[in-house]
Amino acid sequence: MTEELQTLWTLRGLDERLVRLTQELARHPGQRRAIEMGREAERARLEALKRQIAELQLKHRQLEKEIESLTAEERKYQGQLPLVKKNEEYTALLHEIAGARGRRSERETELLLLMEEEQGLQRERPEIERTLDAREREAKERLSTLESEERAERQQVEAIEAERRVHMERLPASTRARYERIRGSREGRAVVPILKKSACGGCFRGQPPQVLQAARRADRLLTCDGCGRLLVWPPEDEVPLPGS
Ligand SMILES: [Zn+2]
Repeated sequence: MTEELQTLWTLRGLDERLVRLTQELARHPGQRRAIEMGREAERARLEALKRQIAELQLKHRQLEKEIESLTAEERKYQGQLPLVKKNEEYTALLHEIAGARGRRSERETELLLLMEEEQGLQRERPEIERTLDAREREAKERLSTLESEERAERQQVEAIEAERRVHMERLPASTRARYERIRGSREGRAVVPILKKSACGGCFRGQPPQVLQAARRADRLLTCDGCGRLLVWPPEDEVPLPGS
């Protein structure tokens, strides 16, 4: 194998790692959003419960006020009873008293039901708070794991890029330009192995015998007519990378 092909093969290995790392890094924003959405959903659940409780508490206070004013109304009529002279006035007052009492009793029943509902919601609250707490902690942990993974991956990317710059400089300028051009248009893969001793490892096009023979001799650059990538006969001692 010529030194140039050797260098290209080394660059291929580095670029494969870069492709994989780039894919990993591209997945992170989605993963982060999923974690944040799970946490948001739990927060929203608690907020909804708090709102429900607050609404009931408002109704609760309104009912108490109504009960108070109905009690006052009844007391006022009671106070008037000894003052009336006529029978029909007396009967009318008794009627008012019964009316106020009836309405008060209705409000009291309503209040009792409302308080039961309120207590029910209050009982749910600790469980929801505990779940939210756990979810917040879990989200925080997962986000920080994700962050350190991302940091490590970015460091690897930097290291690989530094390494590939060194190898790149060993290539003749024309090959270097060609390599980068193909790499830019072919999802980060400029060099591919010949697979199963017959096909391009990039587009899987079967290669003509003369290309295969030349590739096996490993004495010059070969291009796949299908995808334009550079073809290299994989060194015997190297197992082709999965998916390549
Ligand atoms: Zn191809």
